[in-house]
Amino acid sequence: MAVQCTFSIIKPDATRRNLTGAVNAMLEAAGLRIIAQKRLRLTEERAKAFYAVHKDRPFYDDLVKFMTSGPVVVQVLEGENAVDKNRQVMGATNPAEAAEGTIRKTHAISIEANSVHGSDSPENAKIEIEFFFTPEEIVG
Ligand code: ATP
Ligand code: MG
Repeated sequence: MAVQCTFSIIKPDATRRNLTGAVNAMLEAAGLRIIAQKRLRLTEERAKAFYAVHKDRPFYDDLVKFMTSGPVVVQVLEGENAVDKNRQVMGATNPAEAAEGTIRKTHAISIEANSVHGSDSPENAKIEIEFFFTPEEIVG
């Protein structure tokens, strides 16, 4: 498996608790390199667009409200098999089901306030990276 990029978000529940560095340390310990990173506040419009795939799910409105409730840190992560590796270090969507040692088991509060987002495929990683970053902002 070649070197790959994936997209990551440190969500408002984690930035609120000052866990940006703690999350980054877990990503780096897993062998992922943070090759782009910025802290921003999502507008309602941007959060709706980012999560458009979930627009018919019952949790969509709450998810948009949560994702706009505080700062997020958006990132590009690089590494061997980065998409799957990041999903592994994140853990299951519901922290109650996440494996020991994962970010969500260690830090997440609930199935919604679950501290991190990670792309679920290389195709979505490309789309999500381009949603937030210009090529000049990504320094591998
Ligand atoms: P993400 O896309 O954020 O990496 P994921 O791929 O593990 O998470 P998805 O099914 O894509 O999970 O859901 C996107 C996000 O929507 C979840 O991370 C969580 O914040 C929220 N979410 C998912 N399921 C629920 C639910 N049943 N109730 C409330 N919020 C939910
Ligand atoms: Mg997802």
